Amino acid sequence: MHSSESAHIDCPYCGESLEVTIDGSVGQQEYIEDCQVCCKPIQFRVRVDADGESSIDVRSEDE
Ligand SMILES: [Zn+2]
Repeated sequence: MHSSESAHIDCPYCGESLEVTIDGSVGQQEYIEDCQVCCKPIQFRVRVDADGESSIDVRSEDE
């Protein structure tokens, strides 16, 4: 069961390492959350593969 897990990402703006929680039960999803350090909006893209493993990509909103 991979209902939720945490991952570490690097903020695309300030480069700080942030811990985020992935809700794997939702499946593929995209959302925006402000960086806890520089308060800029980070775009998150979560993918869940057939094994239930979650992976997360981040990018800046103004790309
Ligand atoms: Zn930041």
